[in-house]
Amino acid sequence: MIYINKSVIDSKLVKMALSSNIDYKIVDDASEIVDKKSNIYLDDRKDNYIRICPGTKIYRCCSYHNIDIMQGCPFDCSYCILQAYLDHNMIKVSTDIDSIVEHIRSFQGNIRLGSGELSDSLALDNIIPFTKIIVPVVNELDNIQFEFKTKSSNISNLLNLNPKNIIVSFSLNPESIVSKYESKTASVESRINAAVELSKYGYKIGFHFDPVIYVDNYKELYTELIGILTSKISEESIEFISISTFRAPSALLDAIKLRDKYTDLLNSDMIKSPDGKYRYYKSLRVDMLRTVYDSLRLEWKDVFIYFCMEHNTVWESVIGYDPGDRDKFELLFNNSFLA
Ligand code: SF4
Repeated sequence: MIYINKSVIDSKLVKMALSSNIDYKIVDDASEIVDKKSNIYLDDRKDNYIRICPGTKIYRCCSYHNIDIMQGCPFDCSYCILQAYLDHNMIKVSTDIDSIVEHIRSFQGNIRLGSGELSDSLALDNIIPFTKIIVPVVNELDNIQFEFKTKSSNISNLLNLNPKNIIVSFSLNPESIVSKYESKTASVESRINAAVELSKYGYKIGFHFDPVIYVDNYKELYTELIGILTSKISEESIEFISISTFRAPSALLDAIKLRDKYTDLLNSDMIKSPDGKYRYYKSLRVDMLRTVYDSLRLEWKDVFIYFCMEHNTVWESVIGYDPGDRDKFELLFNNSFLA
């Protein structure tokens, strides 16, 4: 159900949403709404909208920027960081389109920007069609590469938008891990099929193996998944691939145990890292990253692959080099798309 703050009933985004014929109710404020993931609340929340990824000096981080238009996600991944970040379950959407567009237009310098930090970028695009607003704006600009990041296959709005510097990226895990820990998301097969389809329409494609999750037969599962992936889509369509193992601040560990005290998501030993997050032991992380990296490199020799929030010694162990601090790391991306 959509709930609309009475002050935004005439806004452009509300009109777009209501054209999908979804049930809606007008409210004075969020206190009238049951706080659950199936409820969407539209109001004119003002914000800075664009923020640089916080990162740390200890773990290698690029200068990625997030645009937070939507807060909350209809999917229900067991490991989702939003369980620790947000103080609500409902999905809060800003209808302040003019400011959002102004923020994007006014940004100076080259940036990579994405909407997939506090929500899934496409899960609700059939109802709240941000793609129809964002893609034409980014198409007019030369300094922005915009990423829609998703675990859905909800791509229909994207098919006739003639993209320029638009990446659609799909998070991937073996299907047995998806069905266990990524509740309500699209199957991995339909995500890959959606990526193949979008590549025919001029979109650049990204993949995120993040989080790579430890299970006893992880080598076999990830190798099999990558074999399927590389047989279905060509390397030329891929802009980048990220890999990173499961990590969690203690607040997220608490949330995971609260939702399922018998979960095997936390079965493997984890250690508290200098940034306060818990990670698998370094030797295991290196082994898991190497499994995914080497499997990809078997077929795709040139695609840009990076590790998100990993230590320089892990980079050196797996790939043989250190990407350096934010600015140097960022150049690796810029070299691949805006140079
Ligand atoms: S798709 Fe992403 S934002 Fe949505 S529940 Fe899963 S991890 Fe969280």
